Amino acid sequence: MTELDYDALIIGGGIGGIQTAIDLGDMGHKVLMIERRVSTGGAMIQLSKVFPTLDCGSCITTPKMSSAFNHAMVTTKTMAEFQSFTEQSDDTFEVEILQRSRFVDLDACSGCNECADACPVIVLDEGYDESLGYTKAVGVPFATALPQKAALDIDNCIYCGKCANVCPTDAIHFEMRDEIQKFKVGAIIIATGFYQTPIKENYGGGRFKNVITGLQMERLLSPTGPTLGIFRPSDSKIPWSIAFVQCAGSRDKSIGVPYCSSICCMFAIKQAILASASAVMAEITIYNIDIRAFGKGYDVFYETARNMGINFVKGKVALIEELENKDTRLHIEVLGRDGNKKLVEHDLTVLSMGVVPQWDEHMSKELPVALNSNKFVDEIRLLSDPGITSIPGVFAVGTATGPKDIVDTIVSGSAIAGKVSLWLKGELRDRFLMKELQVVM
Ligand SMILES: Cc1cc2nc3c(=O)[nH]c(=O)nc-3n(C[C@H](O)[C@H](O)[C@H](O)COP(=O)(O)OP(=O)(O)OC[C@H]3O[C@@H](n4cnc5c(N)ncnc54)[C@H](O)[C@@H]3O)c2cc1C
Ligand code: SF4
Ligand code: SF4
Repeated sequence: MTELDYDALIIGGGIGGIQTAIDLGDMGHKVLMIERRVSTGGAMIQLSKVFPTLDCGSCITTPKMSSAFNHAMVTTKTMAEFQSFTEQSDDTFEVEILQRSRFVDLDACSGCNECADACPVIVLDEGYDESLGYTKAVGVPFATALPQKAALDIDNCIYCGKCANVCPTDAIHFEMRDEIQKFKVGAIIIATGFYQTPIKENYGGGRFKNVITGLQMERLLSPTGPTLGIFRPSDSKIPWSIAFVQCAGSRDKSIGVPYCSSICCMFAIKQAILASASAVMAEITIYNIDIRAFGKGYDVFYETARNMGINFVKGKVALIEELENKDTRLHIEVLGRDGNKKLVEHDLTVLSMGVVPQWDEHMSKELPVALNSNKFVDEIRLLSDPGITSIPGVFAVGTATGPKDIVDTIVSGSAIAGKVSLWLKGELRDRFLMKELQVVM
């Protein structure tokens, strides 16, 4: 085999990619992990607490982010995206990475954040705070970001130069440009995670201020969030009644997401429990088709929520309207024997959105792994060898292959690290006859 730059390339620095990187590094493999956002951590770094233990999300994520980032065998590149790959005759891959410019010299920046204090441009934070908070055009992205280094948002910058003038280490460089970097690697792991589905038109299409997504609710509940408590986005009032709408973008053929998102029942229950502690007088109702509490300790968690007085109503929400005072009116089709239609009003409505893959059809043109009927990366032998894709040497972990909670994502990361290690040693080829599989595909 020709000399490799890295044994493995991991595309995606969420918790799935991070776990795979740590385990591969611990096994002595040289790893490159690329993340397209300004920080690693994926969706998990935005979470408040996590079901079913109600542990603080970032207390679990940040030590793992740090282990990967500071691992002697792992190189992490943020603002870096996978571009293309070429399969070599010796079972290795040549990959191209687009390294976007940060306009900040990572080696020079100390993370002091003086640039953010000096910058006059305030920008809606569409990333970490899900458009509920504001940030500056330059600065360290958020308190737990890794790397703890500034990034400059060139699209919103007015080139006043104030940040560069105050920077004590001369780290800001407006002349920096994006660049393509090429590497030779022995294996590729797709850990590109998920997006939430967009808000449906019959739920306001994103125009109603007090109809928010599950991830926005996480930011409202988080101690690192923009509001330090639950306030309605329209008028900053503490809500008296909160609705959670389940299957708001899943189990719905009309939008091309016929499958269950598997995590939403549990995160809505978690958010309802946390909301009852934050907005103590609020009446909380979860509208659901059924509750799917499948994991270890999940059913007990559901029972706890019932015992705490959270209402569970079996019904489909057909339509949401915004009233003049910005309250929300829900049209419910109640399920069951007494099924009828009813109208209910709530101060704040939280939508449990569907889960769709970030690995899109465009990416699949560059790295043509087979996708399954739900457009996630196909695990060609799901029952016997989860994580193995249609291309020998290319693996997938976490929510890149379908909706998963954190535990299942971490387990898949560790499992795939083991398989990748075998592949790199040449053992998996014989054991799993992957060449034959490729012919069958
Ligand atoms: C509202 C909400 C609440 C939740 N609460 C809980 C909970 O309490 N408990 C629980 O167990 N689970 C919870 N989850 C689920 C949890 O967030 C996921 O299980 C976990 O984030 C999956 O990790 P991942 O690494 O697979 O994907 P992600 O977290 O999506 O990370 C994937 C990463 O890959 C990067 N990426 C994508 N494409 C590229 C590319 N082309 N190049 C480079 N990088 C790329 C992305 O930027 C992202 O950082 C919740 C989910 C939501 C939406
Ligand atoms: S760019 Fe300069 S001012 Fe900004 S955080 Fe880095 S060292 Fe501090
Ligand atoms: S040059 Fe741009 S980033 Fe720097 S202070 Fe001015 S507006 Fe902010």
